Amino acid sequence: MDKWKEKLRNFMAGRYGSDDLSRVGFWAFVVCLVLSLFLRTNFFYWVAILIMVWMYYRMFSKNLSKRYEENQKFLRAKEHVKVWFKEQRDPYNKIFRCPNCGQKTRVPKGKGKIAIRCPKCGTEFIKRT
Ligand SMILES: [Zn+2]
Repeated sequence: MDKWKEKLRNFMAGRYGSDDLSRVGFWAFVVCLVLSLFLRTNFFYWVAILIMVWMYYRMFSKNLSKRYEENQKFLRAKEHVKVWFKEQRDPYNKIFRCPNCGQKTRVPKGKGKIAIRCPKCGTEFIKRT
């Protein structure tokens, strides 16, 4: 038994293992399996298989920097989604992005059509609030 454990440890040495992305992958896998059971379609079953293969591929990968970079990208995307939801929930303000430089501006809601001046580059743009 101990010998087997040691073999496993040797096998996993220098390999990536699991991270945030693989945890989400696991849930996606479970959801797809459940969907394939309920919808009685093979589509989600195959998606689940693909996700599983992809998860194993990442877990046993030896390209650590690449996998790490993927996870960082995923975490950044997650942060963006979080911020977006937070902005949508704000009942008093609306966020607009400057068409010139991309700077975000918070504007009170319900003012109708107004001209917004970007605080960063000074570009004016018309938006309905
Ligand atoms: Zn701007």
